[in-house]
Amino acid sequence: METLVSLCKRRGFVYPAAEIYGGFANAWDYGPLGAELRRNIRNAWWRAMVQERDDVVGLEATVITNPKVWVASGHVSTFNDPMVDCKNCQSRFRADHIDLAGPCPDCGMTGQFTEPRLFNMMMQTYVGPVQSEENVAYLRPETAQGMFINFENVLTSTRKKLPFGIAQNGRSFRNEITPGNFIFRTREFEQMEMEYFVKPGEHHAAYDYWRKERFRWFLRLGIKPEKLRYLMHPKEALAHYSIGTTDIEYLYPIGWQELEGIASRSDYDLRQHSELSGQQLSFFDEESKQHIVPYVVEPAAGVDRTFLALLCDAYDEETLENGEKRTVLHLHPTIAPVTVAILPLSRNEKLTPTARRVWELLRPHFVTQYDDSQAIGRRYRRQDEIGTPWCVTVDFQTVEADQAVTIRERDSMAQERVPIGGLLAALRERHDAAVARSAALAAGYEPELPKE
Ligand code: ATP
Repeated sequence: METLVSLCKRRGFVYPAAEIYGGFANAWDYGPLGAELRRNIRNAWWRAMVQERDDVVGLEATVITNPKVWVASGHVSTFNDPMVDCKNCQSRFRADHIDLAGPCPDCGMTGQFTEPRLFNMMMQTYVGPVQSEENVAYLRPETAQGMFINFENVLTSTRKKLPFGIAQNGRSFRNEITPGNFIFRTREFEQMEMEYFVKPGEHHAAYDYWRKERFRWFLRLGIKPEKLRYLMHPKEALAHYSIGTTDIEYLYPIGWQELEGIASRSDYDLRQHSELSGQQLSFFDEESKQHIVPYVVEPAAGVDRTFLALLCDAYDEETLENGEKRTVLHLHPTIAPVTVAILPLSRNEKLTPTARRVWELLRPHFVTQYDDSQAIGRRYRRQDEIGTPWCVTVDFQTVEADQAVTIRERDSMAQERVPIGGLLAALRERHDAAVARSAALAAGYEPELPKE
């Protein structure tokens, strides 16, 4: 993990937040490459969950909303984690994360834990100039409630029929007791959630469908299947709204940990909001002429945990045939922060105009980087280290003889010469082939669901 943290800082993926002020515990800012990578993750999710489907629509709800939402959802009364303190070193832990009879993970002393206390994880603020009880509001701890409270609006404006889903992506906030492990657990993070509404009774099939579908989505991003697994929550450990929850876990350097959760949420949320708002949230079924309160299946993923899984999965240190070492991120082309780097062989003025022309040709179509500093070998290494799938090199032969350039492929390091006129098509072809390959792999992969 440390190697990755340092690469992230050095190359501009992730910086410690507010570093010039000594940082801010467990908060991270995303640098230029990190911002691109996160955008690619969100876009890939939105494409797969909303745009490629005809049964899911999108939504963007506010972060701060009417606090009654959190009363109805159960977050005000039950969004609690049991917390213990070590009396010796004052470290704080989640009681369900450690062995309370064992030694303190920080100082090693045994028998020093306080009794577990419940701690509400919602972040509070005040809306308006007066800091009074009536003006308390919360920063959302999940994006899901935005979909439930807009259920009626979406139904009316889109005329969707069951089954259908509403998806949203955005920041959520939790006052986590034990944040840490780089960007794995932070107090401000970003979620990608979808509520899929079905007729009661159809939720078992929907739960299975989405558990598999979401597993496959990670394969489409190039994540290795052997690094993913399901973990089913035991019945007695389910959240208050859940009738079944399965996590998709990734084998991070810190071990198997939750990357995404898929929950079968029953009709809990819609019923709660109907009751507290006084507005009936249901679907009128033309066939049976009855109002149905749909059941909900929710795949809930994290942008930050996907980011971390992608980097861990892509990271490699290779020894080349000549004994040289290279660090490479084998990021999928749909995810890589830079898709094509344009590298003139040198800064020689003969090369610059053509190299710039090639750059202009590609810029509208791909995220590109132009780099003409230092030796070409070092520039290849730099691009390998940030996961750029293709480098395009402009050399003297290009300008003096053939108006052709070299495409150098990151993983195989194979080089191929193509005429500038056919360069865009050649890169497109490679890009589309990579997308098709992972899509075929994902489609053909049958993940084995855990036994009930
Ligand atoms: P955990 O058990 O790790 O606390 P959770 O089960 O509470 O997570 P969910 O409520 O299911 O998490 O949230 C859905 C997704 O949001 C998680 O799978 C994860 O990717 C992301 N997520 C939740 N909490 C955090 C956090 N503190 N930091 C980063 N990502 C988070």
